[in-house]
Amino acid sequence: MKLILLGPPGAGKGTQAKRLEENYGVIQISTGDMLREEVEAKSKIGGQAKELMDAGDLVPDEMIIDLIASCIDKHECQKGFILDGFPRTTPQAVALDKMFDEKGLELDLVIEIKVDDEAMVERISGRYTCSKCGAGYHDSFQKPETEGVCDNCGGTDFSRRSDDNAETVRSRLLAYHEQTEPIISYYKKKGFLKSIDGMTAIDDVTKQLKELIG
Ligand code: AMP
Repeated sequence: MKLILLGPPGAGKGTQAKRLEENYGVIQISTGDMLREEVEAKSKIGGQAKELMDAGDLVPDEMIIDLIASCIDKHECQKGFILDGFPRTTPQAVALDKMFDEKGLELDLVIEIKVDDEAMVERISGRYTCSKCGAGYHDSFQKPETEGVCDNCGGTDFSRRSDDNAETVRSRLLAYHEQTEPIISYYKKKGFLKSIDGMTAIDDVTKQLKELIG
């Protein structure tokens, strides 16, 4: 299975990709996670990306296309993958097509998770993760059963993304509408696009995805 999840920041792409990863034995490829690792490692790429990410802007296409190309070649991606956060611009979508052609790969499906912008600001501003196992929580919608203790692993250390604040979220939403939305019609024309409602409960969104994937 080779799948692209599209949707604005906060739509639930990462959460759903992780669930599909467990269900279908495929790999989640998140360009945001890859960049955050580069920032953490204080690499050259990380240094170039940090300021743009903190401002809610996209990093240059070439940087992200190179990261994806080396990732798809890895052994663990051979069983299939879910692209989460890539492609985000038309040049990235065109580069991905070229990469698939060169490697003899075929895209199965592009799924757009439809949500309301205003709800995304609240969703993103309140989210945080367990530093030990990566389980996701939210100040209002998904608190751990015992305050300050991760339900999944018992960890007590949590972190928030530096770009998950109301101001940056608005820039990220703007970047989505201006630069990413055009690829929805790009994939529609190619006959790959399906849409689901991302405003329902997390379990229901997973159900809708599974129905489409089969
Ligand atoms: P995400 O975790 O997908 O919300 O991505 C966090 C940030 O990483 C974005 O706001 C961008 O600055 C950067 N980023 C992630 N993926 C891409 C991409 N495909 N193209 C350009 N920038 C990206």
